[in-house]
Amino acid sequence: MVLRRLMRANTKEARLLGLQLGPPPPAAVGPEPCPLCGRPLVAGLSIDEHHLVPRSQGGKEKFLVHRICHQKIHQTIPEKELARRYHTWEALSEHPEIRAFISWVKKRPPEFMP
Ligand SMILES: [Zn+2]
Ligand SMILES: [Zn+2]
Repeated sequence: MVLRRLMRANTKEARLLGLQLGPPPPAAVGPEPCPLCGRPLVAGLSIDEHHLVPRSQGGKEKFLVHRICHQKIHQTIPEKELARRYHTWEALSEHPEIRAFISWVKKRPPEFMP
């Protein structure tokens, strides 16, 4: 799992450097569910990566989440607030708008994309 994540990160870096590595490998999906909504993560386009501490604030650790969950986080909370207050999954899930979103998205299939 960790190795797979590393490989993905390296591939992304290689692409940024303009290296040709062929198509990206399928998204890594482990036994862990999405840390925001708790639904399973299914390989493919419905998943994304989130930095709990935004990269612009020096954050490095990233987590696999649903794309829809990720979009909701960034639509709802500005980067500075993420860094200052919402840098744990617990804090995020207590945000009123995020909490409402979680109870809505929990009823959707794991690959759901709007
Ligand atoms: Zn999710
Ligand atoms: Zn993010």
